[in-house]
Amino acid sequence: MSGDPLALYVHWPFCVSKCPYCDFNSHVREAVDQDAWRDAILADLAHEAKLLPGRRLTSIFFGGGTPSLMDPATVDAIIAAATAHWETAERLEVTLEANPNSVETDRFADLARAGVNRLSLGLQSFDDEALRFLGRAHSAREGFRALEIAQKNFRRVSFDLIYALPGDSEASWSASVAQALSLGTSHLSLYQLTIEPGTRFSSMVARGELEPLDTDAAAALYELTDAMTSAAGVPCYEISNYARPGQESRHNLTYWRYGDYAGVGPGAHGRRLNSRTVRHRKPENFLSAVARNGHGIAEEEILSPFQAADEALVMGLRLREGVDAERIAERFGLASVVDWERVERLIRSGHLARDGGRIALTAAGRLLLDHILGEIASVEPKALAVAS
Ligand code: SF4
Repeated sequence: MSGDPLALYVHWPFCVSKCPYCDFNSHVREAVDQDAWRDAILADLAHEAKLLPGRRLTSIFFGGGTPSLMDPATVDAIIAAATAHWETAERLEVTLEANPNSVETDRFADLARAGVNRLSLGLQSFDDEALRFLGRAHSAREGFRALEIAQKNFRRVSFDLIYALPGDSEASWSASVAQALSLGTSHLSLYQLTIEPGTRFSSMVARGELEPLDTDAAAALYELTDAMTSAAGVPCYEISNYARPGQESRHNLTYWRYGDYAGVGPGAHGRRLNSRTVRHRKPENFLSAVARNGHGIAEEEILSPFQAADEALVMGLRLREGVDAERIAERFGLASVVDWERVERLIRSGHLARDGGRIALTAAGRLLLDHILGEIASVEPKALAVAS
């Protein structure tokens, strides 16, 4: 609808090397033709803009891959095009993900001039040995330097750490969290290492060369993180994200609150006007699709009310504020989106809390998100028309 908020995700698919835990759409190429890529992404963006006239742009997120390897002029051109296609919200949030390599840090000032006002830095660890284990192309020292330069250039800075690595202990991780909290950013993303199918780590686990940290130890580290960040005034607002109040990622909140977002660039996902879109993943296929069709869409599917409601529940429950299950049901014309009897049972066991139609995970529940989702959304909701 005209004036409705819209977020924009732009995927840059290239990295200098492939990390062994990574299942993102990232590719290593010897050379990248920045002009060709700028033109292709601009064409893909223009396609989305044509379908979404009159919307109000609230955020742009450059993700990857490694978007800090983009030429700042390319970033500039994409921001300029997006803000010409759509009217912008008063405080347009423009985030870019960056790695701490020097070639990227040298670009921070130009990226800020291009309009990026929030940087999300992939530090991943403060420890060189852990960085080597994670296959990262930077050292801890480079990480600190990149953070310092980022904080000089961007008003809002966040960084990521990965924990629950094999051998992590409460003592080592609490020292890292304390250090993270002392660095003065208002947002942190703290992810547990997960072994994703198809990654190098997954083959190593299968061969017995890597033993993941056991789930109880990982859960203890999660609880420790929760306690330390809350005490420091940077509480968890989503399973793995922590922020001072008001400093949450507005872009990611759009996903979790089930707002519309256009997704452009290779492999980008989007959800707009009740449809889900997926772009071609492989960079070369994306370029030929844009040349052929004027956009990079590989799949487009209209979501059924049940699919949409289920997705809204899955996304919303990740948030500490939880999700209004009654409003979701109403929005998609369903009698119900959760099995309330099972919800009540999980409230009694201390895993969920309820306030009217809104349900939220408790701290204990956050450790069991997938299991709880399976429990409460296991009954397909009936359409109102059928129920009445
Ligand atoms: S830098 Fe990020 S996107 Fe690129 S391979 Fe490593 S984890 Fe994946």
